[in-house]
Amino acid sequence: MRADLHVHSSYSNDGVSTPQQIVDRAIEVGLGCVAITDHNSFKAYYDVKDNGKIIIIPGEEVSSKEGHILAYGINKEIPRGMSIQDTIDAIHEAGGVAFAAHPYRWWSGLGEKNTLQYDFDGTEARNARSVPRANRRSEALAKKIGKPISAGSDAHSPPRIGSGSVDLPDGLTTWQEVLDHIMNHDVKVDSTSRGRTASLRYGIKSIGQWMFRGFRKM
Ligand SMILES: [Zn+2]
Ligand SMILES: [Zn+2]
Repeated sequence: MRADLHVHSSYSNDGVSTPQQIVDRAIEVGLGCVAITDHNSFKAYYDVKDNGKIIIIPGEEVSSKEGHILAYGINKEIPRGMSIQDTIDAIHEAGGVAFAAHPYRWWSGLGEKNTLQYDFDGTEARNARSVPRANRRSEALAKKIGKPISAGSDAHSPPRIGSGSVDLPDGLTTWQEVLDHIMNHDVKVDSTSRGRTASLRYGIKSIGQWMFRGFRKM
């Protein structure tokens, strides 16, 4: 079973997929599990958790003061804007695990030093919206840290869903079993990477959106 552990819905203000479209597309591309990790929102989980077809992991991509942190298995929304340590603590208090998202991404990544320094439960080793070099480096960093790893598409629209994923055994039936497996076993990760043109577009878009939001980072 493949699981895409980083997907945005329309609850992220830069995402266009409704939670139901995510489920439909995930089934279409053969995924058995998706973690919906909206920017600072936890709402999509409730819309599709009982879809009867694929496993949905409750998640969120939290904007800490110093970069994005993925929360998996949480039971409530984690507020944005806290320090890295406070964000990790809040995720643990909400019953979840904290993974360093796309550590090498310009603008929204935590950077190598923070990823090494803080006691994350795991690292995102591959992200389909990261450039090839960033993916190579995060895989190497994840190996060096030696903790559990995740991977995902970071899709903000349906066509991208499934372009990053982890391999899991068939037969897992709950998100708890999926997380348990990720936390306790070596999982295989895979993803495409972002091309050069898309990277340039991302850079320009990031700055544009930042200005539009009144100089507030996503
Ligand atoms: Zn991010
Ligand atoms: Zn993301």
